[in-house]
Amino acid sequence: MSALTFDILRLLSDGAFHSGEALAQRLDLSRASVWQALQGVEQYGVEIHSIRGKGYRLSQAIEWLDAARIAAAAGDAGKRLSLELFDQLESSNSVLLRRAAQCTSGTVLACEWQSAGRGRLGRQWLGNLGGSLLFSLLWRFEQGVAGLSGLSLAVGVALVRALRLAGIADARLKWPNDVYLPQGKLAGILIEVSGDTLGPSQVVIGVGLNLRLGQMQQQIAQPVAALGQPVSRNQLLGLVLQQMLLVLDQFAVHGFAALRDEWQAMHYLHLQAVRLLAPNGTERFGVVQGVAEDGTLLLDEAGVLQRIHAGEISLREC
Ligand code: ATP
Repeated sequence: MSALTFDILRLLSDGAFHSGEALAQRLDLSRASVWQALQGVEQYGVEIHSIRGKGYRLSQAIEWLDAARIAAAAGDAGKRLSLELFDQLESSNSVLLRRAAQCTSGTVLACEWQSAGRGRLGRQWLGNLGGSLLFSLLWRFEQGVAGLSGLSLAVGVALVRALRLAGIADARLKWPNDVYLPQGKLAGILIEVSGDTLGPSQVVIGVGLNLRLGQMQQQIAQPVAALGQPVSRNQLLGLVLQQMLLVLDQFAVHGFAALRDEWQAMHYLHLQAVRLLAPNGTERFGVVQGVAEDGTLLLDEAGVLQRIHAGEISLREC
């Protein structure tokens, strides 16, 4: 999306009508250039009403990311973060991974729009301009990569805690790295790790979370969900970062073990019959018995307790 389109959307962000002439004047452009810049914005999940004689209006007001409001909501954790906001990035994880060597632990890149958002195993992560949280956090650990098992589960705990603080009571986790509402998938976590087995190590923790769905729903081949009530994006991002830092501090000292009970209480498939799906299409069936202290899934498979490593496995309800 062009910088000009972002400028116009910012002028429209209150959700009220603005005439093409007034917009053109504010930006020192022709009315035709304003019209041109707004062509095709639907592909970013933005809906614009255009009425002759009245001008343009966003169907839903946009609350743009705001560093001061995010830091305020994060409280004391805000002092340990270095927050950078962007209109668009290819993928916040990809950019932060490339820049990691020059960044301090606690660097956060958050953006309004990702052109190539990523999920696990090369899958795509979609977002809506103004209707998603899309961000990545860089964190360094003294322990090596070997000590980081269960980290994506720990981050899930932080997300659900933050959602509850924001008034979303029915958010639950799905092993290993997703957040669900009863209607479907609300958020995903993508953790990319580098470092030695013994330490130190560095992780980039990416999160995508839906505040509204819009057209995106039709492009995703599984049930998806968005927050069903108005929640401030800045407030929620601040709370998520605050809870992430609390969880990361705890994880650095005790590993996932300290968060295991809390995680299990948040798992919506606890003691449920499930299907495990491998990328080659192979399936296994069993009943979830919880997770081990290293975050592996404990599955009762025909009476035998198996430990399942996240790797390339996807968990589905039966
Ligand atoms: P797993 O259960 O193994 O995590 P997954 O299919 O949910 O499997 P992820 O890597 O977590 O895989 O997420 C990527 C997938 O999530 C995409 O293939 C798509 O189906 C779905 N997806 C993409 N964007 C969104 C979104 N904004 N909200 C919900 N789901 C999405």
